[in-house]
Amino acid sequence: MPLYTADALVLRTYALGESDRIVVFLTDDRGKKRGVARGARRPRSRFAGALEPLTQVRVAYFEKERRELVGLNYAEPVRSPLAARPEAMAHIGYFAELIDEWAQDGDPSERLYRLGASLLEALSAGGAVEPLARYLEFWILRLQGVYPPFRLCHRCGAPLAAGAWLAPGAQVFTCGGCAPAAIAQLGPNLSLRALGVLHEMRRLPPLAVGGLTLDPAAATELERVHHILMGRHLERELKSTRVLRELRRPASERAPRQAESNR
Ligand SMILES: [Zn+2]
Repeated sequence: MPLYTADALVLRTYALGESDRIVVFLTDDRGKKRGVARGARRPRSRFAGALEPLTQVRVAYFEKERRELVGLNYAEPVRSPLAARPEAMAHIGYFAELIDEWAQDGDPSERLYRLGASLLEALSAGGAVEPLARYLEFWILRLQGVYPPFRLCHRCGAPLAAGAWLAPGAQVFTCGGCAPAAIAQLGPNLSLRALGVLHEMRRLPPLAVGGLTLDPAAATELERVHHILMGRHLERELKSTRVLRELRRPASERAPRQAESNR
């Protein structure tokens, strides 16, 4: 049975049997793994404090032939976002779920791990959660090749000088002139200010993004567009996206909104 050690991010866990947990984790070198942590639900378990979502851990695991589940020997916490930012728990859960959704089984790419680890570093350093959430969505979509180009109109090639309109049912941005009239008159999905944020996010590391103050209107536009793009790609809404939106919305507004029929 080959034994591996790696740096990893814990994405989620669920109970197994009487006292064990299954741990889904993203390694820095061999992609996403599912492993059994024996005794993890017992008091004084050797996995204590290591299995919260998005904890960065040093793991040792072994693989058995023809078994999907690996065995976890140990997981030592290196950096814990919940310890550093307990108030950001809902966002931390959302970040872990996003990475879990988009990390493909059997894809050993390091890029998603590096993105997650640097996001965690920015979070632990006290970075603002909303810009970091938009940044993670932007980069995950980019890494998957799903983020539409946002400099030029997809149809006519003109610069998006008045904002970007998301084409109905397609993963492309157009100018207002190329958008269907009924949509064009509603105004762009991304204003010039939101497009400016995207250009910043393309070049800045997460540590710098965590220090950004996002204009609330631009932040809302980006969040909406990212969730539409992710929803179209995943063909369903992530559970915690919905939870976060509900948490943020005043009780008086918790009725279905027209904008959401866009998803
Ligand atoms: Zn155009």
